[in-house]
Amino acid sequence: MPFLGELSTAEIDDLVRRLGGKRYNTRQILDAYHQGAGAFQDVTPLPVTLRSVLADQVTFTSLEHVRTAGSPTEAQKFLFRLHDRRSVESVLIYEAPRITACLSTQVGCPAECVFCASGLGGLVRNLSPAEILDQFLHLKRTLPKGQKITNVVIMGMGEPFLNYANTLSALRRLNAADGCGVAARRITVSTVGIPKRIEDFAAEGLQVNLAISLHAPNDEIRKRVVPLNRDRGIGPILTAARKYFEITGREVTFEYVLLDGINDAAAAAEELANRLKGIRCSVNLIPFNPVEGLAYAEPPAERCRRFEQILLARGVTATIRKRKGSRDAAACGQLRLIEKSAQ
Ligand code: SAH
Repeated sequence: MPFLGELSTAEIDDLVRRLGGKRYNTRQILDAYHQGAGAFQDVTPLPVTLRSVLADQVTFTSLEHVRTAGSPTEAQKFLFRLHDRRSVESVLIYEAPRITACLSTQVGCPAECVFCASGLGGLVRNLSPAEILDQFLHLKRTLPKGQKITNVVIMGMGEPFLNYANTLSALRRLNAADGCGVAARRITVSTVGIPKRIEDFAAEGLQVNLAISLHAPNDEIRKRVVPLNRDRGIGPILTAARKYFEITGREVTFEYVLLDGINDAAAAAEELANRLKGIRCSVNLIPFNPVEGLAYAEPPAERCRRFEQILLARGVTATIRKRKGSRDAAACGQLRLIEKSAQ
């Protein structure tokens, strides 16, 4: 059976007509779906018989919820099973007044960043647009009445720009007024830094925020921590970041995971500040969140602060971000790894 999120409006129209429904029923189905209904039975404007015949022909959601970890005041991780028994995860982060949904775009990841749990097993497969959107819709319906997802970050498992078309399709639906209606300025896509795709993304006409995982001030360090674009280095990434600002008017965020003894030296901060000179950007410094089996460590707090101070003193906006929910293994990819080892 197809998933509802995979069908075009015309396909739903056809099906509704064949099942004896009216054209306006299609809009009722899609509106209920985008507002977070969980099943055809919840699409209350539809005649009851139409709801049940539709349920025999179409699967409402592509995800089966397996479990939730964490707390509904800090961060909650959701593990979902896909139709092929693969699994994927999403996170809700509570930071009043914001509630942020963090979505995945791939099962596994091909990027091989040395400190990240998501890439440990390589790429398994891309998620479809419906599988990306259904994560948001599931999170939306788990919130109690009166709470609302205010922001969306594409920072879960996977590299969105290596699943570009599907990610774009999900983003457009997330943003559309007749879709989920999330304002583009409240959506952030995080990429490992693929220059060609950053430029393509700038040309899409979306006002979405872009975060680039830089993690290094020079090519030598970057090769060690992000081997993916080892051949081209960070020059083309910075050029693409400049273009992103010129075309969209949106300031780029650079993410920089601080790894003890690897990229956290004062000289690295100075070099980074020089490289970023003239780029309209800010830097998010993320102390490494421990991953079992990986021999990296979080630098002492005082070294993180010194790194931040050096950037600030040189006119680069920088903030230290503590990852939420580390107690419940909420770093990228970790819930799925735990689940895997428990099977
Ligand atoms: N592939 C995308 C998005 C996924 S990860 C990207 O590379 O940006 C989102 C952010 O979390 C990235 O900046 C990533 O480098 C960071 N991250 C991954 N594992 C981490 C860990 N163990 N500790 C801290 N940050 C981590």
